[in-house]
Amino acid sequence: MDLQRKSFQLRHVDAGSCNACEQELTALLSKELDMQRYGIDMVASPRHADGLVVTGPVTDTMKTALEKVWESVPRPRKLIALGDCAVGCGVFQAAYASHGGVGAALETPDLEIRGCPPDPKKILKKLNP
Ligand code: SF4
Repeated sequence: MDLQRKSFQLRHVDAGSCNACEQELTALLSKELDMQRYGIDMVASPRHADGLVVTGPVTDTMKTALEKVWESVPRPRKLIALGDCAVGCGVFQAAYASHGGVGAALETPDLEIRGCPPDPKKILKKLNP
């Protein structure tokens, strides 16, 4: 996946995460990792995003919202599954309200970042190879 660009704005959707993935995502904004120095940042509106970061296994209650947000991200765009749940191999994979990850619920992600939760340094390296 070609992420070599000057700016990479991301919208995040929690699609049923336990919130540990979000904690690690938030760590990217710390002064130690500071992902903004690489031109990577989080935006509030999907209309302003170059890509969508999804955490969680995609639960029943979040599936429609996730589809709407994804449809709102302008093309060209990148879909990123963050954490084992979103990748489709997490502990909630077979839970009754789980759709089994981004690939099963939406479409095949452009980038998968595994881990439960993924290490923030690993996330940054994947986003800024
Ligand atoms: S991958 Fe692990 S840390 Fe992330 S949402 Fe799933 S259970 Fe939580």
